[in-house]
Amino acid sequence: MKGFFDGVRRHIGNMDAEHLREQYRRLSDEVNSLDALFGTMAQGLIVVDGRGEVSKSNPAARELLGMDPEDALPMLAVPLGKASKREIDVTYPEARRLEIQTMPMGEGTLVCLRDVTAERERTEEELRIGATRAVRDLAAGVAHEIGNPLNALSLNLQLIRRANGDSEEVEECIRQVERLSGIIHGFLQALRPSKPNLVRGSVADPINKCLTTMRPQFEERSVSVTLNLPSALPSVALDPAQMEQVFFNLLKNALEALRDGGSIDISLSSDDNDVITTVRDDGHGMSPEQVAHLFEPYRTSKEHGTGLGLMISARIVRDHGGTISVESEPEKGTAFTIRLPRIERRIRALKG
Ligand code: ADP
Ligand code: MG
Repeated sequence: MKGFFDGVRRHIGNMDAEHLREQYRRLSDEVNSLDALFGTMAQGLIVVDGRGEVSKSNPAARELLGMDPEDALPMLAVPLGKASKREIDVTYPEARRLEIQTMPMGEGTLVCLRDVTAERERTEEELRIGATRAVRDLAAGVAHEIGNPLNALSLNLQLIRRANGDSEEVEECIRQVERLSGIIHGFLQALRPSKPNLVRGSVADPINKCLTTMRPQFEERSVSVTLNLPSALPSVALDPAQMEQVFFNLLKNALEALRDGGSIDISLSSDDNDVITTVRDDGHGMSPEQVAHLFEPYRTSKEHGTGLGLMISARIVRDHGGTISVESEPEKGTAFTIRLPRIERRIRALKG
């Protein structure tokens, strides 16, 4: 399509009326077939112009949202002109989970909506039963078995270090063994997620714990971290160890995306329903394509990455009844937002 336009643009000065009519006919055929495609797609599409108004939408968008996309847009609160990805639960016309993706398009934004209810249920179901189970158990068994000798290796390396003092070779072995342990640990967690053990608490606690653990890494890279904590933050029901893992994954990714001297900002707030945590970095950000595949397993851009951190984090947040979303711009940075339901809301929901 672009080639066609470029060609017409280059030669338009030399075209006679007949030629122009021919190009016009081809163009209108093209537009008609694109319109038909737009109209019949199962994926909902909304084109938002530079002023934030809906300039085009397809029937699927209206059907998925259960209302006019123009009325729904303010409620979707999509970031304009940026790549982002998140999931929301809609209750009307029926309860389902929608994935909302945005992509910058010219001056405006393309919003894609997809019904992921069945997909989510299927993933959960596949994790519980099905033909994949035997393979999974085998893989988990092998991973577990590798864990034991790794622990022994690690222990013995520590002993060698203690006996012989620091040496480059031993340090490298320790680093590699730690890396392997990290991979095995992530793999096992992805295969065998444990249900959260929920207690009443504050989101600030696991964040503070993470910050204490990671402080030396931040200092070494001269990365500044700010934590904006409101004076009163509502309680949530959380598994502190699992949420600590989520924040550890987010902060580690942020650190890996930053140049030395970059900054990370963690902000906590609440609304009527949720406690909201945003982890923002001013690192290298992601392309819209990378954002589109985020939270999928084994997607990594790093040489030594596992591509499991975000998938595990998203699952933990979902198991807490919360949502995780992302906004990112290349060269500008990335912001992850986690919403966890306030404990009163959870209790109300359980009673109701
Ligand atoms: P891993 O860190 O092992 O690659 P993750 O699931 O934690 O796996 O992250 C997946 C990918 O998402 C990363 O490889 C990276 O490309 C991208 N990513 C995640 N967080 C950020 C961030 N804060 N800034 C830029 N890219 C990120
Ligand atoms: Mg990671």
